[in-house]
Amino acid sequence: MSKGRRPVWLIGLDGVSFDILQPMIDAGRLPTLTDFMTRGTAGILKSNVVPFTPQAWATVITGANPGRHGVFGFVRQMPGRPPEFLSSKTMRGERLWTWFSRRGLKNLVINVPLTYPPEPLNGIMITGMMTPSESSQFTYPSELKARMAREWPGYRVDVRASIDKSRNLAFLDELEGALAVSIDLMTTLVKEVDPDFFFPVFVMPDRIQHVFGHLIHPASAAYDGATAKKWRSRIWDSYAKLDAAIGRLLDLAPPEANVLFISDHGFAMERGGFFTNDFLSGLGLLKLKTGGGHGTARLIVRKFNTPAIKRLVPNILVRKTIDLTKGAIDWSKTAAYAASAAQQGISINLLGREPEGTVSPADYDGVRDRIIEALASVSRADTGEPAVKACRREDIFYGPFLEAIPDIVLSFEESRLEAKDAVLGADAVTLSDGGSRAIHHRDGIFIACGPSIEPGPCEELNLEDIAPTVLALAGIEAPVGLDGSVGGQVVQRARSVRVARPDPRGT
Ligand SMILES: [Zn+2]
Repeated sequence: MSKGRRPVWLIGLDGVSFDILQPMIDAGRLPTLTDFMTRGTAGILKSNVVPFTPQAWATVITGANPGRHGVFGFVRQMPGRPPEFLSSKTMRGERLWTWFSRRGLKNLVINVPLTYPPEPLNGIMITGMMTPSESSQFTYPSELKARMAREWPGYRVDVRASIDKSRNLAFLDELEGALAVSIDLMTTLVKEVDPDFFFPVFVMPDRIQHVFGHLIHPASAAYDGATAKKWRSRIWDSYAKLDAAIGRLLDLAPPEANVLFISDHGFAMERGGFFTNDFLSGLGLLKLKTGGGHGTARLIVRKFNTPAIKRLVPNILVRKTIDLTKGAIDWSKTAAYAASAAQQGISINLLGREPEGTVSPADYDGVRDRIIEALASVSRADTGEPAVKACRREDIFYGPFLEAIPDIVLSFEESRLEAKDAVLGADAVTLSDGGSRAIHHRDGIFIACGPSIEPGPCEELNLEDIAPTVLALAGIEAPVGLDGSVGGQVVQRARSVRVARPDPRGT
């Protein structure tokens, strides 16, 4: 081991929040995380305003906001261009591992979303979520794939979650089986590579919560106490197995390593849906066809689009029925419409930009302002609190891909609603309470522990702060122009340490 090394271990836990962890911590089920929190520092890590997995991990990877890295949802639609599936090829910006590679430092990047197809780096990359399948070429170097097939034949990039898997506990066995293989692979590769930057992501918590959220959040109205009584201990076993597996991995960390745990977003129980298209219809800005053949789909979604029913129906059928309802939109008379679910926004049907645009560029600002103003007066039926915060995209984001972000960005951080893109053809505003789906929330977790970390409480950080913080801990001079900053007092000592000069031979 070379003198003065400052390895960073960045452990990604998809979808974790402190309110989910705390009961398990209190019950002594998560000794690894508890130990790092006690010896180090912990605080809220705020996700993007629209806290969805692709844009969140892209911000961690690049240190940039979605307007710059160009990831906002699963597909990017720039005006006048064909839609692009988002991947490492279409995500812009320098990656964390590039900065390490340039200095001749070794990377081990495993299962990070948005990394497919894998990119050359100094070290090893096994791609994560949004990899088409395990038969894709998902490793760098490419020979590693054949070795993985021999030595870890059960390796899985992802285990898909859908609410219909909540009928029994078999899904947990599936997740734990995949975890066991991943940890065996990771421990072997950590020993072989001895990385300066180790960045694995575990999607398991996100998958558990999407399926069993109604058994995890006792404070929520949707909590199913009877089933939780039978199943919660078994669900906690899965988190405990993840904690123990990470513990085995961290036993291999050199003493000089700084270890960070981060989530891409937190979780909350949904309190209802905000049916954006129906809201716009109520404003007269979206029209439905008369006599179209989509009434049945709308009726099905309206009557049966509840979590209880969804648990009984294959997920794909639910999604198809929702998509069918969108056939009812009369585009020639529509001025604005709901963006995709992973974008949580509203797009203006702008002439010259949209296939059947109706709003002239001169009217764009007026239509947008009118919608934002109307959204400000929407409140939750039960509490009277504002349902949604709306803003113009340029008020939060900037960069060359700003135009791929919906014209109006919606945030439901306080109200815990989620924007839906189905067209119900029902009331102008449909706020359905009592839902029991788990949804993403902005409040995620940050835990840090190591020789450069000041123990004690930690101020709130943003996802943009992770890249500069990792680089500071590694002693790498961060490039000018990152959107975040080094995480406050967390790494005071790291900031005062002289940064390494770039290796002139680096690429
Ligand atoms: Zn996620």
